Amino acid sequence: MASVLANLSTALLRGCQDLLFPPACAGCQAPMPASRMPLFCTPCHHRIKWLDSPHCPGCGRPWPTGAGEDHFCGPCQQKPPHFSRARAALIYQGPIAGAIQACKYQADLAALTSLAALAHRSPVFIRGAAGYTGPLMAAWSDYDYIVPIPLHLQRLRQRGFNQALLLARALFPGQRKKICFDILCRHRWTDPQTGMSGGQRRKNLQNAFAVTAPGKIKKCRLLLVDDVFTTGTTVNECARVLRAAGASEVAVFTLARVRQ
Ligand SMILES: [Zn+2]
Ligand SMILES: [Zn+2]
Repeated sequence: MASVLANLSTALLRGCQDLLFPPACAGCQAPMPASRMPLFCTPCHHRIKWLDSPHCPGCGRPWPTGAGEDHFCGPCQQKPPHFSRARAALIYQGPIAGAIQACKYQADLAALTSLAALAHRSPVFIRGAAGYTGPLMAAWSDYDYIVPIPLHLQRLRQRGFNQALLLARALFPGQRKKICFDILCRHRWTDPQTGMSGGQRRKNLQNAFAVTAPGKIKKCRLLLVDDVFTTGTTVNECARVLRAAGASEVAVFTLARVRQ
């Protein structure tokens, strides 16, 4: 009886919420009948692309379907990254790009919750949550700390929130104690990187990050979390300083990845 009442009150609350804040698709803003997560309309849902093998075991660069088994890409062979592996749930395009921008620039928390709900259904995330420990992905529970990519204090004040921290909390609700935003800081202001080449991004990020709690991470396995993997320069620079400070492994999980 108590559970029936609880379900009824949740449904009532959701109904009131939908009346006050009419639900809209996180990808294209089209009106939706109800706020059931993930909030993506059917046409947007059909355009969503998950990431999985075959891909580069290092940076996660996707290979076309039918390209055979996983194999390292040229850049990872020539200059192995400082992170052990980078994985993403979705390809950054269409409705996913729209939802990430809405969450980042319009503080759309429904878009963030929708994106996290989608990520939880991705093959890569399911394997990590199930404790898979093959070459593709380590178990999420194996990491000692989950570290969101920090924003510079000035940008944090402008935006009012760090989307990587909110995302880490939405992605790993059962591991909140492991989510640490006091391990790494962005102590140098950097220009926005959109439109920059890989070399320009590397130069822009030189000495931008510092480890604020080196004693805490010695011999620890860390999982960096961010919204988008573009060229990997940001996560690679974070991994470099974390490894230099004594972390035994730094892996990366991003919600989406630019197909290159
Ligand atoms: Zn839509
Ligand atoms: Zn690679």
